[in-house]
Amino acid sequence: MNTKSLLLGAFLMFFGLSKAQAQINFGERALGAVQKGMTGFTFTDADAAALSKPAVDKMDAENKVAGPTDPYAIRLAKVFGKYTKGEFYTLNYKVYLTKDVNAFATADGSVRVFSGLMDVMDDNELIAVIGHEIGHVNNHDSRDAMKALYQKEALIDAAASQSNKVAAVTDSQLAKIGSAMIDSKYSRKQESEADLFAYEFMKKNGYDVNAEESAFRILAKMSEGAQSSFIDQMMSSHPDSSLRADEAKARAEKDGLYKPYVKKPAVTTPVKKTTTKKKTTTKKKK
Ligand SMILES: [Zn+2]
Repeated sequence: MNTKSLLLGAFLMFFGLSKAQAQINFGERALGAVQKGMTGFTFTDADAAALSKPAVDKMDAENKVAGPTDPYAIRLAKVFGKYTKGEFYTLNYKVYLTKDVNAFATADGSVRVFSGLMDVMDDNELIAVIGHEIGHVNNHDSRDAMKALYQKEALIDAAASQSNKVAAVTDSQLAKIGSAMIDSKYSRKQESEADLFAYEFMKKNGYDVNAEESAFRILAKMSEGAQSSFIDQMMSSHPDSSLRADEAKARAEKDGLYKPYVKKPAVTTPVKKTTTKKKTTTKKKK
């Protein structure tokens, strides 16, 4: 057996997918974008949403998603439940139960928050970090990243299936889209603008804007410490936490709103269970 087929076999076994399941069709809008060719095609927010939605569904299926009665899901709903309407997107929220410290939002308005992040942030800090992710959607960064990725993927696909028009994206492409959505590399300018979005969101809705500085200080500190492995992903896609904390502080000072942030306890009520199994949501101490 060659390496390629071994890898493919392992991939299919891992995801338990048959070939039929692996073909996912997109709506006409996304297909329209494909058929217009590889350069200069218009790629709308709806196209990006159509492309990201099945990738998010796939990730939801592969991750441990907190159910509606899970304390993490309840906390997230309490903090964000009222914020679902965006300019051209509707937000939906889920928690992935994992120690990783991360969060991402996709072009279709799906916001995914890792429980590891919720363990280290209080509610205001969560709003700052997640608000930043929503900022990328709001500012069309997610759409643009999706467009760039799609152009890259469409090129590969076109070479393979010149004759039979691109009518579906394969499961492996979907996986690529998924990991690209988590690890989206944005420009420094896009990052600053997403931070600003989070700041303005907090200001507008009456939250303590100083939580933004605090959130980035936490991330900066974690990246130096023993927990760094848990935040590698977030750090790699969002560098310069200390710098961003400084910028957040400067913004608050300029608005006359600065005062050192007093962290509130991150309250995620433990599940009341009759079983003996303990949840392992506590942080690792070394
Ligand atoms: Zn970002």
